[in-house]
Amino acid sequence: MSFANVIQFLEKIAPLANLSKKEVKLLQTPNRVLKADLVVNGKKYPAYRVQFNNARGPYKGGIRYHPEVSEDEVKSLAFWMTIKTAVTDLPYGGGKGGVTVDPKKLSKKELEELSRTYVRAFYKNLGPDTDIPAPDVYTTPEIMGWMLDEYQKLTGKKAPAFITGKPLELGGSKVRNIATALGGVYVLEEAVKKIGLKEKKVAIQGFGNAGMNMAKLLGEHGYSIVAVSDSKGGIYDPKGLNIDEVIRVKESKGTVVEYTKNRKISNEDLLESNCSILIPSALSGVITKENAAKIKAKIVLELANGPTTPEADQILSTRKVLVLPDILANAGGVTVSYFEWVQNKKNESWSEQEVKKKLQEKMISAFQQIWKEFSYDNKSFRTAAYIVALKKIAAAQKIKNKNKVEFK
Ligand code: NAD
Repeated sequence: MSFANVIQFLEKIAPLANLSKKEVKLLQTPNRVLKADLVVNGKKYPAYRVQFNNARGPYKGGIRYHPEVSEDEVKSLAFWMTIKTAVTDLPYGGGKGGVTVDPKKLSKKELEELSRTYVRAFYKNLGPDTDIPAPDVYTTPEIMGWMLDEYQKLTGKKAPAFITGKPLELGGSKVRNIATALGGVYVLEEAVKKIGLKEKKVAIQGFGNAGMNMAKLLGEHGYSIVAVSDSKGGIYDPKGLNIDEVIRVKESKGTVVEYTKNRKISNEDLLESNCSILIPSALSGVITKENAAKIKAKIVLELANGPTTPEADQILSTRKVLVLPDILANAGGVTVSYFEWVQNKKNESWSEQEVKKKLQEKMISAFQQIWKEFSYDNKSFRTAAYIVALKKIAAAQKIKNKNKVEFK
């Protein structure tokens, strides 16, 4: 979504959260937009760090490497991080970073140099109590390790809490690799209970970190996965797919469609397939005004960021389909990032069990807060989630302004 659309959306929702014009203006404006040109092997790559709002705590958000990264996109993503951390009650604000680069065209050495150069460009504005980066599209735990090393060299201090999503041996957290999907499972379980959904037939679009782990976890929780897909297409079995087998095929042959025992379907058909729960876990903007009326699911869980267009959202809401929005549904990742940061600050290492229990508590509590605000008749779950978040941010911002506090 463009930043202009973000602003428009905020203006629409602001009266419902009782925000004044002044508050809306403030929440539409990022605190800081940092820019630099990173030079690697004589080539220039535009880089950004947007620090959107820190009224509730230090800025927090990933760094994206993608050829289409722009200042406008990073601003939108930083705004959403501000909302996401408020929804889940994490003591953070929101930020985001990005580099306009196709990382597949770089050698490993160049990728490392680019990552270290990013830190050199922005490190004075980053830090464990100021702004904490993390992975995003095409940035990995290994890259987080390089960035941490560079930051520690520049500051001369050991500071694992500078960045999250690190490898375990550098202070990463257990469960981080499946955190997004597991957070989604906890949210879905609450929704299923609330609406008394009996049939648990699931279709999942996208079979990467989010989608594949979701399929595996839901299989273990007694759900029947009837359809999955990746960029090459999808497979469907009304009796339920054998997910362990599908994962083996995906890992050995590179795509789920090579799992030939089942009917093949297109990515478009998957969205309209006979299922009670639909989980978009790949691209944004796939549920549109053209297909929203044909979706059979009673629940849509947005593991992907922005899979539903605003027009489709309206249609689903009118049809009383419960859409669990991305700002809640995929917040498990940033929540475990927060746990990683806490462990680093306290010099602790939590067990898998402990992390899962804490994640479950956070996700259920966020769900419950939104459920209280939500109404099938006039306030969609997404609208309710934004209202809950905006009220928290505005309240913190008010205190910050009153006390004239200026965080770095
Ligand atoms: P990934 O790269 O691991 O997987 C993406 C999957 O989508 C792949 O299976 C790919 O084949 C598939 N795909 C690509 N094009 C497709 C198409 N046209 N139709 C259907 N499938 C297609 O990415 P991921 O980490 O799983 O992220 C997926 C989505 O979840 C993104 O929107 C991302 O922003 C969101 N998300 C992920 C995390 C996380 O921790 N991984 C956290 C928050 C949000």
